[in-house]
Amino acid sequence: MSDFRSTLMITQLNQLQFDNRFVRDLPADPVVENYRRQVSGAIYSRVNPTPVKNPLLVAGAKEVAALIDLPESIFTQTDFVQAFSGNQLLAGMQPHACCYGGHQFGNWAGQLGDGRAINLGEVRNQKGEHWTLQLKGAGPTPYSRTADGLAVLRSSVREFLCSEAMFHLGVPTTRALSLVTTGEWVRRDMFYDGNPQLEPGAVVCRVAPSFTRFGNFEIFSARGEIDLLRQLAEFTIRTDFTHLLSDKSADVSSDTYVQWFNEICISTAQLIAHWMRVGFVHGVMNTDNMSILGLTIDYGPYGWLEGYEPDWTPNTTDAQGRRYRYINQPRVALWNLAQLGNALYPLVNAVEPLQQALEKYRVEYERCTQRDMANKLGLSQFDPVQDQLLTDNLLQTLQSAEIDMTIFYRLLALVSLDGIHQYTDQQWVDIVRPAYYLHPDKKAEQAMANWLRTYSQRLQQDYVVNGNDDQQRRQRMNAVNPKYVLRNYLAQQAIDKAAEGDNSEIEKLLQILRKPYDEQPEHEDYFAKRPEWARHKAGCSMLSCSS
Ligand code: AMP
Ligand code: MG
Repeated sequence: MSDFRSTLMITQLNQLQFDNRFVRDLPADPVVENYRRQVSGAIYSRVNPTPVKNPLLVAGAKEVAALIDLPESIFTQTDFVQAFSGNQLLAGMQPHACCYGGHQFGNWAGQLGDGRAINLGEVRNQKGEHWTLQLKGAGPTPYSRTADGLAVLRSSVREFLCSEAMFHLGVPTTRALSLVTTGEWVRRDMFYDGNPQLEPGAVVCRVAPSFTRFGNFEIFSARGEIDLLRQLAEFTIRTDFTHLLSDKSADVSSDTYVQWFNEICISTAQLIAHWMRVGFVHGVMNTDNMSILGLTIDYGPYGWLEGYEPDWTPNTTDAQGRRYRYINQPRVALWNLAQLGNALYPLVNAVEPLQQALEKYRVEYERCTQRDMANKLGLSQFDPVQDQLLTDNLLQTLQSAEIDMTIFYRLLALVSLDGIHQYTDQQWVDIVRPAYYLHPDKKAEQAMANWLRTYSQRLQQDYVVNGNDDQQRRQRMNAVNPKYVLRNYLAQQAIDKAAEGDNSEIEKLLQILRKPYDEQPEHEDYFAKRPEWARHKAGCSMLSCSS
């Protein structure tokens, strides 16, 4: 196997093969000067990254390098940091920024676009797959509006680590190849309190089959540029949904657009179910941050549930309305899909099939959450009659005291069917006690003991009927309930060290998060509740959009 791989590897960056279908097949903005503007009649604008003073590699992900046939040793080559800071274009790269719009916090925001993202091109790897490389934070583009096109180290570390953590959790996501610092300072008002600070600039190279968002379609529909809408939709289907085309040379029919929208609804449902399973809160689910491929995209003020609080949002900008709170994510995704459906209407010219697709979202989301909940509880299957109640009661019980979601589910796997009949309330609660942030009162303790007792009866039944024993159950649970997630305070500790030039914590987190479901007893200290000092500390609980 390793021999096979090494024959596929290339050794030099200049051996990367670019096959830039997006640039080749779709209409470009005729204006090539880089100034901020409304761009019409085009799907993207050509723009070069802005060179930086002193690029230094902070971290690289070898698994992502391998996607484009590059060995891990590529990170130490000097041309790597030059290429992936935006200082040097490789042969075949055709840098460009895309035009998109979006609904932000429920309102149509008009043209947004890649304001600080520059696509470098599509690498065609030796398996024939296309991977788009995109720099985030490599300088202004025509879509930068009033902002600078840059990114700071803190948000770039968070994006780099979380993309990879999500991938290893089995959650669809854009990937991160590399993180470099630019040697330049970037001014940011992190708290929006009129006190901007200079922070180290950074660039992440993101990698995905495509970075197309719902908003890429919305903008053309909103402007009545239906021909552009059709071209982009057709291109997307021809590149990333080829299985929908029986006759590759024929025009894409309105039926195919409907099938495509169905698939988007289904992959989005699956994505959101994953987020809910692992306790991820995206924080800015605007339609411009929704991937047409059902990937997690644009890691900003995201966070992980620590205490199980369904109404929690990590985004300070959303603290009032809490539109993007954990529990609202499934509903928001559906709302976003409805906006996409509206945008695609001119290609379909019928409401009914689009509405039916939205209905499929609901069905798929329910299917996924039932399956996930069964696995999270270790049941061999979800019985709608008894397990819905069991789940509802659990989620209520988790809220009745402040209980860490991640730790709770791992501890729950320790329940054993041996000897449980004699357990007192105390003994029951002791199993999950390390997950409590605050000492539970009598009522909360009683509620948890009651739930655990009911749960154990359900386990007993599953054992008798399906032979699902302790060992099988634990395996099932530990494969879907991560032991290690990128808690905000862990990311912040890595950021604080990196700001002092020590990248070791980023490397260590990347290493641990590669195997989030494994026990890794040597890293038990990362399987810990958020410490009290982090409860209200900036970056450790809530975050602003400033990045
Ligand atoms: P976000 O809230 O990060 O998804 O960004 C919304 C829009 O603002 C997108 O069009 C981004 O490209 C743009 N944007 C965010 N930050 C910057 C920045 N520093 N410079 C230019 N554009 C930005
Ligand atoms: Mg965005």
